[in-house]
Amino acid sequence: GFSRRGIRGNFIPPIRSNGNNTGNTTKSIAGKGEDALDDSTKRCLELLCGADGELPEKLRNLEPRLIEHVSNEIMDRDPNVRWDDIAGLEHAKKCVTEMVIWPLLRPDIFKGCRSPGRGLLLFGPPGTGKTMIGKAIAGEAKATFFYISASSLTSKWIGEGEKLVRALFGVASCRQPAVIFVDEIDSLLSQRKSEGEHESSRRLKTQFLIEMEGFDGGNDQILLIGATNRPQELDEAARRRLTKRLYIPLPTSDARSWIIKNLLEKDGLFNLSKEDIDTICKLTEGYSGSDMKNLVKDASMGPLREALRQGIEITKLKKDDMRPVTLPDFENALHEVRASVSSNELGTYEEWNKQFGSLS
Ligand code: ADP
Repeated sequence: GFSRRGIRGNFIPPIRSNGNNTGNTTKSIAGKGEDALDDSTKRCLELLCGADGELPEKLRNLEPRLIEHVSNEIMDRDPNVRWDDIAGLEHAKKCVTEMVIWPLLRPDIFKGCRSPGRGLLLFGPPGTGKTMIGKAIAGEAKATFFYISASSLTSKWIGEGEKLVRALFGVASCRQPAVIFVDEIDSLLSQRKSEGEHESSRRLKTQFLIEMEGFDGGNDQILLIGATNRPQELDEAARRRLTKRLYIPLPTSDARSWIIKNLLEKDGLFNLSKEDIDTICKLTEGYSGSDMKNLVKDASMGPLREALRQGIEITKLKKDDMRPVTLPDFENALHEVRASVSSNELGTYEEWNKQFGSLS
């Protein structure tokens, strides 16, 4: 697992070992005012240099501060999610294993007719584990994980989104195998021409599609995963590039039961019979995975609130002063935490899945 990886992951390029020397490696961005770069930026660029101590071609014309942002904020060296952490979704796990994990592990076998698609779309209601799947893929395939929310490209990086996208794909290509996870991808590749669709957001979209073309079909070990809870907003060009489209539905009753037990067993004292758990599962039809998590959190507060009501001060409270979590705690929590997805919305996903989803 990831625990075996060094602090920089598996992908430390074979650069010279005297790491205290910040001398030559940033030569290749000379002309950008190397002296003006601070140490953290220099260090970050050094880690991206190849065996020759030069910055890879793709990164040379990019602004160092964007490269640094990608390396420090978007790149996740230890996504720390395993298949076993994800409840249910057996079908999606099986498809993903075959479609993307095996090809990332064995590029030599998955070529020619077996060559995999480089774009995967995970769609479905919010809070159902799409991000978890992305992280688990990176973990299982021993790939570097890059996470970016597409809406941040348009909101936070106004006017710079395009450059950031280039930096993102550039760094990913130096950190192969790589998984680029783009959350809310609909906001980037949407078909709707919003009223004042800015020239800049059109350019951003174009740039993004160009980058995708760039590694599609090539020998790069890069997988792009887009996640959305508004698949119907994606246009035809986006669908074409995201060749596999997997529906990530709400958890089944069994999966909800698993989430409850898994979370409670982690840290808590609880007293729930099998029947109690069945009861909770019946009452949580339509809850998403993240709704379930919030429910368990709220129920776990029950014993604490009760102890405090009995007059024990929070600072003096001992673990033993709290009784185990029981069914009534969940019944109370059910009033506080409601399902966040409407059945109306579910219909939309199922329709879209019938029309555009990958069934196998
Ligand atoms: P999405 O990306 O689909 O919006 P996330 O993967 O971010 O949802 O899930 C949010 C949280 O909800 C997770 O961190 C996890 O605690 C919980 N969760 C959602 N789906 C599952 C699942 N299938 N199994 C276990 N936990 C889940």
